[in-house]
Amino acid sequence: MDFDWDCIVVGAGPAGLSAALMLGRARRRVLVLDSGKPRNFAAHAMHGVLGHDGLDPAALRARGAEELSRYGIAVRGAEVDAARPIDGGVELDGETARTLILATGLLDVTPAIDGFDAIYGTSAHTCPYCDGWEHRDERIAVLATVAGFAVHLGRLLRQWSGDVAVLTDGGPGVDAADEESLAAIGVPVVREPVTRFVERDGRLTAIELATRSSSTPGSSRAPCSPRGSAARWTSAAS
Ligand SMILES: Cc1cc2nc3c(=O)[nH]c(=O)nc-3n(C[C@H](O)[C@H](O)[C@H](O)COP(=O)(O)OP(=O)(O)OC[C@H]3O[C@@H](n4cnc5c(N)ncnc54)[C@H](O)[C@@H]3O)c2cc1C
Repeated sequence: MDFDWDCIVVGAGPAGLSAALMLGRARRRVLVLDSGKPRNFAAHAMHGVLGHDGLDPAALRARGAEELSRYGIAVRGAEVDAARPIDGGVELDGETARTLILATGLLDVTPAIDGFDAIYGTSAHTCPYCDGWEHRDERIAVLATVAGFAVHLGRLLRQWSGDVAVLTDGGPGVDAADEESLAAIGVPVVREPVTRFVERDGRLTAIELATRSSSTPGSSRAPCSPRGSAARWTSAAS
């Protein structure tokens, strides 16, 4: 059978674009399909990527697409929801290909707490190494609703600030041994449910708890799933 493409890549994030670039340079006929929902949609600048530190991630993707065009590879908008095998290849979105690469990434599960969406990417972050520097010496809170992450992240974030607290949001994220271990490094544990992240211009200014309003912020949170699990953190502007 004659296939339309040697390879269809689903996902035009850094992974999919990199795969397509190398295939294009190897003279493969490649189509990239993308739904336009990258994992880091909330990020305004990426960090720790050598040669691109501080670049808007959207600019990285645009650069990547431009590089692909030199090799005749197009990136087409499409939400792929099915693929079927045909004659040793695959058919999807009305196209056929000999091979398929799924580079669809991960989907973060953000906390369903009032005000979170407004601070995501400015005061609430998923990765200390990506955004910790920008919040060094600020008050930082770890939202650790999932067991097993509080001690790890509480300790880790002390690298960026001496003022770190762990919030459990009423969940089982911290047991007595964890709490003792965190107390030993000066990280308090706050067990009340979090009711709201208070913000001004997208910046966290306070965290409201079920029993009191805290001006000692900040924190976050929850799992990510394919399409994983990790506690996240939020930092408050000092
Ligand atoms: C808030 C935030 C900040 C971050 N900051 C940094 C940082 O500073 N430095 C750093 O190194 N890393 C950072 N990361 C991590 C970085 O974003 C990821 O490692 C990177 O995006 C992974 O690239 P990827 O190509 O695997 O997935 P993605 O970038 O998520 O791309 C996957 C693509 O697949 C598409 N897709 C998914 N399903 C389908 C489908 N069914 N049909 C069609 N298309 C589909 C999506 O639309 C998306 O465009 C950050 C992550 C987050 C969440």
